[in-house]
Amino acid sequence: MDQSSFKDYKLSYEIIEAIDKLGYVNPTEVQRKVLPFALEKKDLVVRSQTGSGKTAAYTIPISEMIDWYENKPQALVLAPTRELAVQVKDDITNIGRLKRIKATAIYGRQPFAIQKTELKQKNHVVVGTPGRVLDHIERGTINLTQIKFLVIDEADEMLSMGFIEQVEAIVKELPKDRVTMLFSATFPEAVKNLALIFMSDPIYIAMEADGITVDKIEHLQYRVVEDEKFSLLIDVTITENPDSCIIFCRTKERVDALYALLTGLQYPCSKIHGGMEQEDRLKTMNDFKRGAFRYLIATDVAARGIDVENISLIINYDKPLKKESYVHRTGRTGRAGLEGKAITFVTAKEESYMRDITEFIGLDIPVISNPSKEEVSLKKAAFDKKLIDKPSLKKPKNDHLNKHIMTLYFNGGKKKKLRATNFVGVISNIEGVTAEDIGIITISDTHTYVDILNDKGPIVLAAMKNITVCGKLLKVSKANKK
Ligand code: AMP
Repeated sequence: MDQSSFKDYKLSYEIIEAIDKLGYVNPTEVQRKVLPFALEKKDLVVRSQTGSGKTAAYTIPISEMIDWYENKPQALVLAPTRELAVQVKDDITNIGRLKRIKATAIYGRQPFAIQKTELKQKNHVVVGTPGRVLDHIERGTINLTQIKFLVIDEADEMLSMGFIEQVEAIVKELPKDRVTMLFSATFPEAVKNLALIFMSDPIYIAMEADGITVDKIEHLQYRVVEDEKFSLLIDVTITENPDSCIIFCRTKERVDALYALLTGLQYPCSKIHGGMEQEDRLKTMNDFKRGAFRYLIATDVAARGIDVENISLIINYDKPLKKESYVHRTGRTGRAGLEGKAITFVTAKEESYMRDITEFIGLDIPVISNPSKEEVSLKKAAFDKKLIDKPSLKKPKNDHLNKHIMTLYFNGGKKKKLRATNFVGVISNIEGVTAEDIGIITISDTHTYVDILNDKGPIVLAAMKNITVCGKLLKVSKANKK
């Protein structure tokens, strides 16, 4: 089972090619352990934290096993936060891009009607937060009759956010004949029970580097009095001068307050917490991923499970409320083999709590002395320089994958009675283009997006300016964004 190449698994060309274009050279430990069993359709309980490659450990086999011709959803992924749901949907879209797998994310605070329209279309995978999935079930706007795969991701977080009853209610609505996979970074008793309720005889998989990443992350703590936290933060940011840093606070009010202070000092920063509008949260995360700013101030919930490459520093400005959160927070750094540092500010009152954490993670976290005045002034010039440096934006990881794909926008959709087959019929008739060159088609009421693969985008774009779809000449252009 100790295979070291994706080619060693029974994966089809389209999946291997997408993995390759995403730049994944070798499977990670969790992928090596999960892939063989998942491809054999075994129920799995997997202990692994974010950053280990666990999302691809289930999105790869699910994408492989999806039957493209089935129009109703075959896989349901439950995730605790909206950001994670969107991220998992994006991961499936990337891995399944060349197989043309259609995934949809459904979550709260986005208009129900938009999701309802999306769910009416062809969908292979639905990723959702429990509350909103249940809403769709209750209103009869989601068809679960063909679900063959269920993934419960970040089960421990689902539990601590109080979603377990909703998860149970959803599972009751699913076909019994299905594969269930549960992923969790930590395993409190209630998560173990969940596995017992939902699965029959699952295979338990744990990672060798269990619980906490020690080899790639340096864990440190500073002693501080509450009133001096801010000045310590300034000193630490100067001495560490990170390229990318998340600062965790206890509450959204504290996030807002710290954000105001750091903005006042011209820190390139932004914030994320549960009190913000969904659109703003997603935009902030996307900008952070692109490297548009360097400091993200966050509460636990909002930053949970978020995949951002190259975060070099995590600062626990306030201690995590739960021991498990320490694992989740610090799992934001040291991802995909890179190195990182996790610093926790600890007040005298919190010392015993911190000992509980070190016991829980089985790791001694050294207390180091606060940065000296000399060190701070020595490093200040470099810090000031970086503060005004224009950030160099990172390329998204699917950049290479999307290189040969052009998304076209047509100004007609459902209201003009257009269907995906109409587009496939017309486009595949263009000289030099076949149905194989057509990727995901997304039709809404007033417009349609069509992915054109294999560098055939310009040919289709030029041709469709003069060709009608169902007797209608549509305006067509290269889409800016979907
Ligand atoms: P996750 O634990 O699923 O949040 O993934 C952590 C990061 O590792 C993500 O940025 C993935 O894109 C990346 N990743 C997943 N699998 C691999 C792989 N086999 N090789 C390199 N990077 C990977």
